[in-house]
Amino acid sequence: MYNENALNKISRDHRWIGVTFFLDLINGLSLTFKYMFSRSVTMQYPDREKWVPYPRHRGHHVLRRDENGENKCVACELCAKICPCNCITVVPYEDENGKRRPLVYDVDMARCLYCGLCEDSCPEEAIALGSVFEYSSYTSEELVVGRDSLLEMDGKTEQPGSVVKARYLPSAQSTVEAQESSGYDWWRFIHRKD
Ligand code: SF4
Ligand code: SF4
Repeated sequence: MYNENALNKISRDHRWIGVTFFLDLINGLSLTFKYMFSRSVTMQYPDREKWVPYPRHRGHHVLRRDENGENKCVACELCAKICPCNCITVVPYEDENGKRRPLVYDVDMARCLYCGLCEDSCPEEAIALGSVFEYSSYTSEELVVGRDSLLEMDGKTEQPGSVVKARYLPSAQSTVEAQESSGYDWWRFIHRKD
């Protein structure tokens, strides 16, 4: 066991050594020199590389299906009620089996702040914030995404965050197509003091 207070006192007493010999400055410069002679950490997006987000990434919303391919959403409207931006609209209906389903399920992506409250509140785990982060529009109307589009969206990524080789296709609505199923850890190029 060591005495933490005693150690703090020693480091306080010897702080003048660091100040006199500009140790912080030398530390900072050594990090700068390290980066000058190491490989570039600039991601070549969108032309050559693309980031595959971590599963916890909060991207474009997605509606999930159950094992029978049915929409898991039961239109309880909890997500719409909890949303701090009022960007979810749910209109329920009863299907032929007497189950409550969403006739309308719209998310206004232009208003969303990606807090994840809708995902956390859903009792059916029907709504989720997925891995898709490449979407934009010149009009806010186009950013209102409906039920059927949400059911078709990609879900969360299985593999941890990595960078894969990619190809930029300006002719195909400026798509950035991933060329590999798994990539490399971008963070390995960052010099960190853990
Ligand atoms: S992520 Fe937050 S702001 Fe966006 S729809 Fe869900 S609850 Fe609303
Ligand atoms: S997504 Fe979940 S919380 Fe929202 S209406 Fe459907 S079942 Fe309810």
